[in-house]
Amino acid sequence: MNTNESTTRLDFIRAIVAEDLKTNKWGGQAVTRFPPEPNGYLHIGHAKSICLNFGIAGEFNGLCNLRFDDTNPIKEEQEYINSIIEDVRWLGFDWQDRLFYASDYFEQMYEYAVQLIQAGKAYVCDLTPEQIREYRGTLTEPGKNCPYRSRSVEENLDLFERMRAGEFEAGLRVLRAKIDMASPNLNMRDPVMYRILHAEHHRTGDKWCVYPTYDWAHGLEDSIERITHSVCTLEFENHRPLYDWFLDELGVHHPQQIEFARLNLSYTVMSKRKLQQLVQDGLVSGWDDPRMPTICGLRGRGYTPEAIRKFCKRIGVNKFNSTVDIALLEHCVREDLNKTSPRVMAVLRPLKVVIENYPEGQVEELEAINNPEDASAGTRKVPFSRELYIEREDFMEEPPKKFYRLAPGREVRLRYAYFITCTEVVKDSNGEAVELRCTYDPSTRGGDAPDGRKVKSTLHWVSAGHSLPAEVRLYEHLFSRENPDDAGGGEDFKSNLNPNSLQILSSCRVEPSLGQAKPGSRYQFERLGYFCVASESCEGKLVFNRTVTLRDRWAKIQKAQQQIR
Ligand code: ATP
Ligand code: MG
Repeated sequence: MNTNESTTRLDFIRAIVAEDLKTNKWGGQAVTRFPPEPNGYLHIGHAKSICLNFGIAGEFNGLCNLRFDDTNPIKEEQEYINSIIEDVRWLGFDWQDRLFYASDYFEQMYEYAVQLIQAGKAYVCDLTPEQIREYRGTLTEPGKNCPYRSRSVEENLDLFERMRAGEFEAGLRVLRAKIDMASPNLNMRDPVMYRILHAEHHRTGDKWCVYPTYDWAHGLEDSIERITHSVCTLEFENHRPLYDWFLDELGVHHPQQIEFARLNLSYTVMSKRKLQQLVQDGLVSGWDDPRMPTICGLRGRGYTPEAIRKFCKRIGVNKFNSTVDIALLEHCVREDLNKTSPRVMAVLRPLKVVIENYPEGQVEELEAINNPEDASAGTRKVPFSRELYIEREDFMEEPPKKFYRLAPGREVRLRYAYFITCTEVVKDSNGEAVELRCTYDPSTRGGDAPDGRKVKSTLHWVSAGHSLPAEVRLYEHLFSRENPDDAGGGEDFKSNLNPNSLQILSSCRVEPSLGQAKPGSRYQFERLGYFCVASESCEGKLVFNRTVTLRDRWAKIQKAQQQIR
């Protein structure tokens, strides 16, 4: 463990691991795993679990396995497996040669089940699913023993073998653990271990027609891989006695299950089932839509793996469910991009400016700073000419009191260039400004007046003849309600979709240095936010996604809280 980590306070899970290493509980080993079910793409909630499991392994000189929990043949697909591998790797983690599939353990799991039957701890039950539910009782009433509970070991062995051989239809019989139908914990009332499913599995084909349940399979997977700390989310707390029971009855390697609170984010849904609905209903362009909280969505949006890891570190690990403000996630990516992304100038909604006293045909290459946060990033040249574009919203014909940008008769600075003054507004037949006539002061080159006179604002701009056309996509939160699951009169979470979550601007102009920008590269457009080159962008058609604006709502919240204290 590096000293940096050891001096900061450990979260409760790392504290357990550290203590176990000290007492040599697991022979001085820490082995964790990230166990996704391949039934969808990974989201930012999974990133919390990935950073935790791989983080522990990294900090404590341990190991973390990537394991596909592929025990359900119906919803799982190779596409999801491939995406999960790509996303965990992109986040910066390495499982070396330890990529495992739960389906590789099916034979071993079957043998363990036979072992429990032989010990009189499991039985084949012929009740229908409805009857099983009836017999189970409720939170306030104990369950009743099922009439098949007293079947002989021989009969159970015979029936279980025939279940496997495919003699019975789906739903006709199940294998159950024989625990305690009166247990106050419903999970302990003879839970189902195997069900019959005549379904093709994406890896084992039609070899199996009995499939293990999560509760039966998960502890075995951990045990087989000799996991030491099996970290999972809080909803499995009530399943822990069952996890322990199975492993104790079998007398096999028995990891410690530890639960932590799952990540919830405001303005976001986080369940794969719901994200899938958005994809299937065509409400987003796919799992990788830049508005999605999926890892691939965030990647396309311009998030960096560093920013996501930092976010996971900032939110920490605890035992209480809560919702994290999405502003914190945005703050983390802003912080990262501020340090690393080159500054460029782009105009999203162009308004033409003609500098009347600037010589026609003249072009100046003005020096611009690439990154004020990083001197080693150097400078670049930006062409300046008689015809420019500025942002439409940086001009108002009748400016209200606090509007300090361009207006008739007013002087402003063009970044890295000159002071200009607006002398005339050219309008179209609707009375809308289509062009500004301006003059410039040649003595202000570089952006300062030798006579010391000040201007109240600095605008970004591009040269009309040198800039390149581009499409820019602006995003808002995918949902307009802080908690999208609160349907609030609507039918379900989908009624909370934000109709303004995507805005496409197709007549933007960007400075010529962006001509060769490669998909995935990230920039700050001065005054407009952080942008990433979209995957479909090419030299002929530049496309950018806005990652975040420059407005840091999280910093504001922090400041307000400090003032209260
Ligand atoms: P979902 O509810 O989105 O379908 P899941 O828990 O069913 O998620 P799995 O593929 O089973 O998805 O999850 C793999 C691992 O990621 C599990 O250990 C799970 O506990 C963890 N995980 C899933 N969602 C979150 C979350 N929101 N926060 C933290 N960990 C999560
Ligand atoms: Mg799950």
